[in-house]
Amino acid sequence: MDLKFTAEEEAFRGEVLAFLNERLPQRLASKVSNGRHLTREDMAQWHAILHEKGWLANHWPREYGGPGWTAVQKFIFENECAIAGAPRIVPFGVNMLGPVLIKYGSEAQKRYWLPRILDGSDWWCQGYSEPGAGSDLASLRTAAVRDGGHYVVNGQKTWTTLGHYANRIFCLVRTATDVRKQEGISFLLIDMNTPGIEVRPIVTLDGEHEVNEVFFTDVRVPVANLVGEENRGWTYAKYLLTYERTNIAGVGFSVAALARLKRAAQKITRNGKPLAEDPQFAARIAKVEIDLENMKTTNLRVIAAVAGGGVPGAESSMLKIRGTEIRQEISSLLRRAMGPYAAPFVEEALEEGYAGDAIGPDEAASAAAQYFNNRKLSIFGGSNEIQKNIISKMILGL
Ligand SMILES: Cc1cc2nc3c(=O)[nH]c(=O)nc-3n(C[C@H](O)[C@H](O)[C@H](O)COP(=O)(O)OP(=O)(O)OC[C@H]3O[C@@H](n4cnc5c(N)ncnc54)[C@H](O)[C@@H]3O)c2cc1C
Repeated sequence: MDLKFTAEEEAFRGEVLAFLNERLPQRLASKVSNGRHLTREDMAQWHAILHEKGWLANHWPREYGGPGWTAVQKFIFENECAIAGAPRIVPFGVNMLGPVLIKYGSEAQKRYWLPRILDGSDWWCQGYSEPGAGSDLASLRTAAVRDGGHYVVNGQKTWTTLGHYANRIFCLVRTATDVRKQEGISFLLIDMNTPGIEVRPIVTLDGEHEVNEVFFTDVRVPVANLVGEENRGWTYAKYLLTYERTNIAGVGFSVAALARLKRAAQKITRNGKPLAEDPQFAARIAKVEIDLENMKTTNLRVIAAVAGGGVPGAESSMLKIRGTEIRQEISSLLRRAMGPYAAPFVEEALEEGYAGDAIGPDEAASAAAQYFNNRKLSIFGGSNEIQKNIISKMILGL
């Protein structure tokens, strides 16, 4: 196994860097790098730039508009984008629903929905979790009852990320109750503007409105919006989750965050010296940097195995756990570095063009908010405890 990139892969990296240099708007990169709020328009702008280049749907086969990249190319692209401060691709349409439609959707569904994901006509959100059905997702209760050419949907989804921006939601719904719980689930595509849908905000610990509750009362959904077969939704749902967990280690995000932490630790002084020279703080930075280097190697090993025809198993779970722990540790160190500057939460300071008084260095405005926001990393996409269960089953056979 060779963990070095080939000459072709290095050339590809050069191509990605040149593209980022030319097309990533400085305004967006600066917002991302300084932890400022991104608007719906900001995310849509980056989406459109990638679509124009043909690099948006990098997990899709060429025939549907993907660039036909290898696993290594995707890794290089995603990490260089994160390091450059590109907004993340909103994953729900491109990285989650797209692959499910390509594998399980009808020809008519592919023809209609896939181009709309690419050109930004539709903004999808993910309706999986419910109160009482998160880790134990198959316990979901939102019901869809057939009535002629429609399903009538009643129930509630929760933690719906960016649901307030979306015009579509893909939902797991219960279509049978007299069978094993995994066997009575279907996968439905729902227009968020249908009468009977109500989106309520959930404001999280960091003061952000990123997630929502979505309520369904007698919502009529055409039967044509069923993906695949009725009661086979669990299979499609699991397939989608394998895509939710791609690039789960988030190496590029950690590399960018670590560079920011090091810059901040040079600006802050303790006892007349930069914090970066404080032996205890420097040791913590060194430890997380070593952990990150190790994880990078593991990530490359997994990619090399996939390139050789293997399928990642427990390794994905390991990468999820280590990747999220490292990101959380870096945001924790940044918050500590800012000390008292991280305490006052000036929400307006996270908006573009804030002209009020700066409180501490640039990194201070978002240090606490990002620390709190990053708590989510070990919860979603399958919590880290659930990942440990997977590892124990797959490796230890427990
Ligand atoms: C910020 C954020 C955004 C999200 N976005 C979306 C979204 O867009 N769409 C969507 O559908 N969902 C979304 N989720 C939901 C997410 O997938 C769930 O929060 C996650 O699956 C955990 O479910 P839960 O919150 O119900 O916690 P629970 O399942 O109730 O778990 C509570 C605790 O118990 C632990 N636990 C549970 N079962 C076990 C077990 N068997 N063994 C050991 N420990 C266990 C968990 O690890 C956790 O620590 C989001 C969540 C967050 C926090």
